[in-house]
Amino acid sequence: MKRTYTFLLLAVCTSPLYAQNYRQIHDKAIVVDSHNDILTTAADKKVSFDQNLKGATHSDLARWKQGGVDVEIFSIWCDGTYGTGKAFAHANRQIDTLYAVARRNPDKMTIVTNSRMLKKAVSEQKLAAMIGVEGGHMIEDRLDYLDSLYKRGARYLTLTWNNSTSWATSAMDEHGITALGEDSGKAIPPKKGLTPFGKELVQHMNQLGMMVDVSHVGEQTFWDVINTSTKPIIASHSCVYNICPVFRNLKDDQIKAIGKNRGVIQLNFFSGFLDSAFFTRNKAFALRHKAERDSILKTVTDPFFADNYLFQKYPEEVKALRPPLSLLLDHLDYIVRLIGVDYVGLGSDFDGINSAPQQLDDVTSFPLITQELVNRGYSKKDITKMLGGNFLRVLKENER
Ligand SMILES: [Zn+2]
Repeated sequence: MKRTYTFLLLAVCTSPLYAQNYRQIHDKAIVVDSHNDILTTAADKKVSFDQNLKGATHSDLARWKQGGVDVEIFSIWCDGTYGTGKAFAHANRQIDTLYAVARRNPDKMTIVTNSRMLKKAVSEQKLAAMIGVEGGHMIEDRLDYLDSLYKRGARYLTLTWNNSTSWATSAMDEHGITALGEDSGKAIPPKKGLTPFGKELVQHMNQLGMMVDVSHVGEQTFWDVINTSTKPIIASHSCVYNICPVFRNLKDDQIKAIGKNRGVIQLNFFSGFLDSAFFTRNKAFALRHKAERDSILKTVTDPFFADNYLFQKYPEEVKALRPPLSLLLDHLDYIVRLIGVDYVGLGSDFDGINSAPQQLDDVTSFPLITQELVNRGYSKKDITKMLGGNFLRVLKENER
């Protein structure tokens, strides 16, 4: 009896099942999500993310804990219609909100601005909250505004959102298309990429220790950044163009350049950036509900909001639009095959997207990604890197 028991114990300890306890790997790793839009979504819905928002949003404080997310980078965002005199003020209001929530929940979260503070927060089992500013228009062409955002804790700047700035062209504008990939009717800018001020700004960010984020930027801007930055860069929420050829994704030569730069590509969970057939299925859905969609379009400025409304009204149909979870892992595998395991991570874009792969319902779903990584045969060491270690390396290298 005793012998059988010992044998069983040995078998369990050495079985792949034991070695591959994904939840253990997940909980031990520092899990970083480099892009989340809850600040904008919570403001739109007039709620706060320290409340239980299950069913209403992708994220809230309790669910990050459940999902084993240790570090969340909160996106500070407004669109390009917030011009001079408004965009910087808006960014500061969003930062105020984040600080207010942190003050109310000192036992659950801390705003961190460097890797040392980050590790301390994680060891105290608090969410390490970081700030990323998504859209160069929020500095209103002023380096002192960039300095001010840095002082308030911002540790990355996405050089452009979908709108270009006076000093950097966006991916959308370089292609002359809309968010849905249709012709925008706008003229393609004659001078693409970074202007001399744009290059000065990148160098200034390098000196400050603020990460340069190339998600959303045009290809020429990307290459100008690669040739200017002396520090590793990030793509905080982007996927692979060769699997899903949309304007927001990275082509092979860009992926290789990020590897050479020792930066990191954080994968976006948006179905439309993962699955090239998503927009076709989405179009068919929109066509089925055309009358209703047209009537909503009369009341909103952006078709995205009309789709959001319909997505919430027809959840069963919307479920069928979602790609399988395995597709997200295919993007990850692709990058690993191209440049290795050291340059990829996760940047969900939760609460900024209206569709993610099957099973990735909200921030509690992160452990499922770890499970998939285990199933695909990645070692514990490599999984730990991809869940957050790679991002932390880039953060540290920027701090130097
Ligand atoms: Zn974005």
